[in-house]
Amino acid sequence: MRILIVEDEPKTAAFLTKGLGEHGFVADVVANGRDGLHAARTQTYDLAVLDVMLPGCDGWTILRELRAAGSQMPVLFLTAKDTVADRVNGLELGADDYLVKPFAFSELLARVRTILRRGVARQPETVRVADMEIDLLKHKVQRDGRRLDLSPKEFALLSLLMRRVGEVLSRTLIAEQVWDMNFNSDTNVVDVHIRRLRVKVDDPFPKKLIHTVRGAGYVLEERS
Ligand code: CA
Repeated sequence: MRILIVEDEPKTAAFLTKGLGEHGFVADVVANGRDGLHAARTQTYDLAVLDVMLPGCDGWTILRELRAAGSQMPVLFLTAKDTVADRVNGLELGADDYLVKPFAFSELLARVRTILRRGVARQPETVRVADMEIDLLKHKVQRDGRRLDLSPKEFALLSLLMRRVGEVLSRTLIAEQVWDMNFNSDTNVVDVHIRRLRVKVDDPFPKKLIHTVRGAGYVLEERS
């Protein structure tokens, strides 16, 4: 998970970066509003933590411009201002939450986690590739109008491949994402599950969607 921090106060920025880093997040810090807006527009982040009073342009402007450009990036405001008007202003602009300085790191962490969980639910419910459709919330898979019965692990594996259609995923990445652990030595488990998945989602159909990329991993995509 990558987090963008736009904060001009070096002490706060350092404290946030260190704390988030210790909890497994990758945090980029910029100290200027203009640079913050540029970073938010050109890079992919799971969340932005914005100070309100910033050199360059303020946090409200960053959020307004992001939303105007169609960005759904979750935003948590961090500010010394604590008036009802400010709070309403931020939420009306589409901020996800608001934290008043000074705050405890544990509180920030809790808010960040809540927002990120919500973000996951906001992802599209169904993904379609060729004649295959997966419903991520209802855990249903259909191909060519036929319902496919998958085990929970097969479903997790297929949903990862579908959500990242066209992207070659290494065995290590798949193992981490689906089994939530490191299989540095034994990634054979991935191959075994891919084989089982293919029996159900590819073998009965003329067009194959799961492809092996020698030496790199697997990719799901429609090939002509
Ligand atoms: Ca500031």
